Amino acid sequence: MEPVLYVAPAVPLLVACAMIALAVLRSSTITLEEIYEGYQADPAFDHLSENYRFVPGIGNSDADVLFVGEAPGKTEDTMGVPFVGPAGDILEEMIEDVFPDIYEGPTTYLTNVLKYRPGERNRDPHVSEIQASIPYLTQEINAINPYLIVLLGRIPARTFYPGEEFKNIRGKVLDRRGRKVLVTYHPAAILYHKDKLPEYQEHFAKIGEIVADHRIAGAVAYNAGNSLAGRLLSGDL
Ligand code: URA
Repeated sequence: MEPVLYVAPAVPLLVACAMIALAVLRSSTITLEEIYEGYQADPAFDHLSENYRFVPGIGNSDADVLFVGEAPGKTEDTMGVPFVGPAGDILEEMIEDVFPDIYEGPTTYLTNVLKYRPGERNRDPHVSEIQASIPYLTQEINAINPYLIVLLGRIPARTFYPGEEFKNIRGKVLDRRGRKVLVTYHPAAILYHKDKLPEYQEHFAKIGEIVADHRIAGAVAYNAGNSLAGRLLSGDL
């Protein structure tokens, strides 16, 4: 009998600690709206915000897959929405090819490293603009908590992997702080270099495989989490 007397009070205590830890974690997460407010108030972008519209990310804030582009173009600046121009059309087609059940299946979120159009000629973002954007991108990643991050082109690839040549990491699935990262072409590259399409399709097929594996693992975890102990620890009970 004695051990039972000592162990029993410890169980509710552990559950309570787990619930408090979860509550603290949830409440300390900054929202996407707050992140975007911070970005718009940052003087590092005053030279762009004078002439261009702020373009936030779009999609499911709980997405499995986060696509990171470079910066808004003309159409995106006009509409205030990322990837709605010609490059966005290609991206949408590629995503739909891999996920025909996109609206019920793996959820996606689209964003850019730089959230203002960089200029009339769509120049590459300056290093200083990329550097100033990194803290916000990091916050976006933490808020969305995607399983897979897809880097679209050289600018996001350089932002994440400054020491790596694009050609050496393109098409690779990398691990980064518990997430998968896949580096691929920017969709605009496919507009101008149609010969790259088969390789692009291979990369998107990989995205499909990663998400399918993740879903299977998620289903197993869901079943385990749905057990009495799992529900207690997650705060559902
Ligand atoms: N290209 C990008 O990188 N992002 C957009 O939103 C549109 C075009």
